[in-house]
Amino acid sequence: MKIENITLIDKILPIGGIVRDFPYVLVFKTTNWCWYKCPHCCENAGPDNSRAFIPIDVIKGYISQSMQDVKFNNSVIFTGGEIMAAYAFGATDYVPELLKFCLNHNIGTDIKTNAAWVNAKYTPRVFDDLAAASSIGKPYSFQISLSLDRYHKHSIQNCAKFIHELSKRPETHVVINLASFENDRHMFNDLFNALKRNGTSIDDAIVISNGKQLKKYIAGDTLLLNTSVGTLFDGGRAKNIHGAYHDKTPQFSFISNNGDVLMAFDSFGRVTLGENSGRKINTKWRNNSGCPRALSDIRHRLISNAQFEDIRYRILTGKSFIKTR
Ligand code: SF4
Repeated sequence: MKIENITLIDKILPIGGIVRDFPYVLVFKTTNWCWYKCPHCCENAGPDNSRAFIPIDVIKGYISQSMQDVKFNNSVIFTGGEIMAAYAFGATDYVPELLKFCLNHNIGTDIKTNAAWVNAKYTPRVFDDLAAASSIGKPYSFQISLSLDRYHKHSIQNCAKFIHELSKRPETHVVINLASFENDRHMFNDLFNALKRNGTSIDDAIVISNGKQLKKYIAGDTLLLNTSVGTLFDGGRAKNIHGAYHDKTPQFSFISNNGDVLMAFDSFGRVTLGENSGRKINTKWRNNSGCPRALSDIRHRLISNAQFEDIRYRILTGKSFIKTR
C-alpha cells in the first residue's frame, strides 16, 4: 500500500507524518456489548447495548491488507466491550477463528477480556480454544489481558479462576497482562494470595527483553504474568469519576508506550486513533453503502483528520500538540 508523501504539510503539521509513517497496531473493538457496566468504562459498554459484532470477514480483510503494508507492526489487539460474549450469543467460532487467523500468520495477538464469564456453562470451551491458540505460532506470541481494579466487579476472583483454569492446560505458553490503576496496586498481592488459595503455583522470573531485565511471574508451569499500572482517563462513563485524568490534546494517547500508532476499529463502523478517551481523531470504515472501505483510504482520512485536529487545537490554544518528530 502506498500512501502519498506530503513533505511540506508534514513540516507544518508533523502529526500527519506520524500517523502515516509510524508503525501501527490494529485494534478491533469487536462489540460494544458487555456483561458489566463499569463506572470507569471509556467505551460506555454495557448489557443494554446492541449485540452486534464486527464481522469476521471484515476483520480478516483489514488484517490481510495490513500484512501487505510495511508500516504494520504485525500486532493485533482484540477487545470490546467484551469479546467473549460471542460464546454466550452462540457464535462459538468467532474468537478461535480470529485467533487462529492471526497466529497462523505469525501476528502478535492480544485479546482483552474481563473474565466475567469464568463460571458460565461454555467456560471449558473458551479455555480449550485459548490453549489451542497458544500452540500456534511462536511461544508467547499470544497475550491475554485481564483487568484487576476496584471498578470491575469480582476482578480478583475472576482473574484468579481464569489463571487457575488456563494453568491446568498443559504447554499453554501465553503472556497474561494484568492491568490495574495506581490506587489499586494492592490488588496484585490480593490476586497472588487468591491464586495460592486455589492451588496455582506462582514463581518469580526475570525475563530479558530488548536488553532490559523485566520482573515477571510464572503461573503454573508456562503462563507468564505481567503486571502494569495505567492511567484512568475521563472518557465515556469515567468522566463521572473524581480524579480521572483529563487530556486536552485531541491526539490523546494514540501512540502506545512502544511508539506505535493505535488504529482502532469499532462495531459502530468507526476507526479511531487511540483506544479510548480524549477528543477523537476518527473516520468511518464503512462507506455509504455499508461496505468496508479500503485500508489505504481509511489511513488517508485519518492523516487528514489528525491534521485538521492539530489546526483546530492550535487555533483554540495557540499551541502545537506535536512539536517535533
Ligand atoms: S470497562 Fe470493560 S468490563 Fe467494564 S463495562 Fe467497559 S468493556 Fe465492560
